Amino acid sequence: MTRWLTDLDRGFFDLVFPRDCAVTQEPMDEEARRHLSPAGAARLLRIHDPRCLSCGHPFEGLLEGDRACPHCLDLHPAFGRAVCAFRARGPARWIIHRIKYGRCPFLADDLAAAAVEDEVFRRHLAGSVLVPVPLHASRRRDRGYNQAERIAGRLASLVAGCRADPLLRKQHETPSQTKLGRQERRRNVAGAFIIAEGRPVDPATRYVVIDDVLTTGATLHACALTLRKAGAILVDAAALAHG
Ligand SMILES: [Zn+2]
Repeated sequence: MTRWLTDLDRGFFDLVFPRDCAVTQEPMDEEARRHLSPAGAARLLRIHDPRCLSCGHPFEGLLEGDRACPHCLDLHPAFGRAVCAFRARGPARWIIHRIKYGRCPFLADDLAAAAVEDEVFRRHLAGSVLVPVPLHASRRRDRGYNQAERIAGRLASLVAGCRADPLLRKQHETPSQTKLGRQERRRNVAGAFIIAEGRPVDPATRYVVIDDVLTTGATLHACALTLRKAGAILVDAAALAHG
């Protein structure tokens, strides 16, 4: 994918060149998802029960009765429950990388559509206000979009009773989380988020904070904490993939 190809160009590009599946690279037929074939979607690693009721990580290979989740042990999240549709491995990881760094925001539409095929994920969102994790204004400007906003908008259009609301703002840029440990990540994003000016928070509304990937949960926790401090009572979280 070339750098100049923006989302607006994409429709034209699709007309001129045949569309390929982002996973299998095979030509696409006329499918509901434009860049993710059924065969490609089948190769995404879905998360099934049993899973951690806090961060959503699957409990594969852990013994019954040994259900302390090593992925969110010290998190004590401000969100009630996080649910993730896929493992951030293999094809789901490549697609998310292209969404964030490859100027392919349109791939978020297909990954979100594949995510809501899972009933646990869909029911987790149903009837809620979906709040995307914000990017700092300068990062958003550089990237041209916020992938979490795109994902939240797409999910809201697919799940009954949902709407997306960009309630949060990131007030200062934070160093990349990718090389930081669990506690450092938490310190890194603490206090980074505020309620966007003039946006009311309703204590009777259930909010689900939306991100592309949950790794340690630090970012989703910081966002959930901001909503709670502003008066939200029911705050959960969801990500397309668990890192
Ligand atoms: Zn967990």
